Amino acid sequence: IVLVANCVLCVRLNVVTVHMVSDCSVFCSPGFKTQGLDPAVWKGGESEALERLNKHLDRKAWVASFERARINMCSLIASPTGLSPYLRFGCLSCRVFYYNLRELYMKLRKHCSPPLSLFGQLLWREFFYAAGTNNPNFDRMEGNPICVQIPWDHNPEALAKWAEGSTGFPWIDAIMTQLRQEGWIHHLARHAVACFLTRGDLWISWESGMRVFEELLLDADWSVNAGSWMWLSCSAFFQQFFHCYCPVGFGKRTDPSGDYIRRYIPKLKDYPNRYIYEPWRAPESVQKAANCIVGVDYPKPMINHAEGSRLNIERMKQVYQQLSHYKGLSLLASVPTIQEEAEPLPTDDSQASSSTCGMFGGVVLILLSFYISIYALINHGIPGQESSIFHVLVAA
Ligand SMILES: Cc1cc2nc3c(=O)[nH]c(=O)nc-3n(C[C@H](O)[C@H](O)[C@H](O)COP(=O)(O)OP(=O)(O)OC[C@H]3O[C@@H](n4cnc5c(N)ncnc54)[C@H](O)[C@@H]3O)c2cc1C
Repeated sequence: IVLVANCVLCVRLNVVTVHMVSDCSVFCSPGFKTQGLDPAVWKGGESEALERLNKHLDRKAWVASFERARINMCSLIASPTGLSPYLRFGCLSCRVFYYNLRELYMKLRKHCSPPLSLFGQLLWREFFYAAGTNNPNFDRMEGNPICVQIPWDHNPEALAKWAEGSTGFPWIDAIMTQLRQEGWIHHLARHAVACFLTRGDLWISWESGMRVFEELLLDADWSVNAGSWMWLSCSAFFQQFFHCYCPVGFGKRTDPSGDYIRRYIPKLKDYPNRYIYEPWRAPESVQKAANCIVGVDYPKPMINHAEGSRLNIERMKQVYQQLSHYKGLSLLASVPTIQEEAEPLPTDDSQASSSTCGMFGGVVLILLSFYISIYALINHGIPGQESSIFHVLVAA
């Protein structure tokens, strides 16, 4: 049990849950066993947050050049320099983060102003905070002025399979298992499972996915979570619905040997690399040798991805066609006719690069965030959250 500000993180039988409580009476009830638990992946508190921040900033080469490693097996595992749960719970102030980063940069590159990209992560956070402040019903589809209205399917069974990590796609199931066990998953792993649930495969509303993340993520942050789900489902901010993550190919490129899958789905540990992402394709003899028969010990894939994603792209196309009378939606002209899987390169970068927005998108985003932030701050402030660092950035 870790106390963080007013929140209590319960780590119980490998299931991480976060409870907002005003007192600790909930833990006085008998029967809460802590023996035998694995050591906490995320230790709570400000001291830990500051230690992590120092380690984060010690990676001077990274900070100086702002070159981030490509995503691989190691980046999928929670890092001892990860900061998101600490920022979310207020153990780490975004201002402290900002000023430390700035100071370090100034030391390394004397008399130079740090490039905006260095603050990219903080900017994304601010962007979603500002957008969430200024738009009613930000966490739902109906009554949300920036959210495209999409006729999602209602499918509680499919939603449960996704949430429990039993879709039959080892890459998706490993990510959902890590989320459930440890309360954190990598940014691009979030992309993979969010796309799979919504426009990629299952055609289930982003609101359902957002709620599961809200329950399981240690860094669950209302505005960032809702904004990112809208983004990933092409409901707002991002419209290139024909870019779809493959639940097999994306994982294979990230971790070709499948060690990440073996770590979170031990049932599949004896599968050869060749079949670990698609165990249903393994010959019966291989399945038997691995002691894991698909359909018995591990589920069959719940959907044919090629067919499902093609159908969903068509559905999205229709939704966007209905919207095309809106000014500025010239996107449809650029939709490829054959919907080959056009997947953004799995970099370790923020949404801008992973979603092919590139430099231009980044500049637009910064201008947009700037406008929204200033507007929101002047008109509303940000209730209940640490106020924006945007005025700091403006001053800088
Ligand atoms: C579907 C989906 C849901 C998400 N839900 C959340 C959420 O509830 N809470 C959350 O903090 N992040 C969320 N993110 C954004 C991002 O995945 C996490 O912030 C990031 O993975 C945290 O990893 P880290 O520990 O390496 O970040 P750190 O390096 O510790 O980043 C520091 C901070 O920068 C901010 N940040 C970093 N990347 C992003 C980003 N792409 N967008 C917005 N802010 C960012 C976060 O506030 C984070 O706390 C979500 C992304 C997706 C695709």
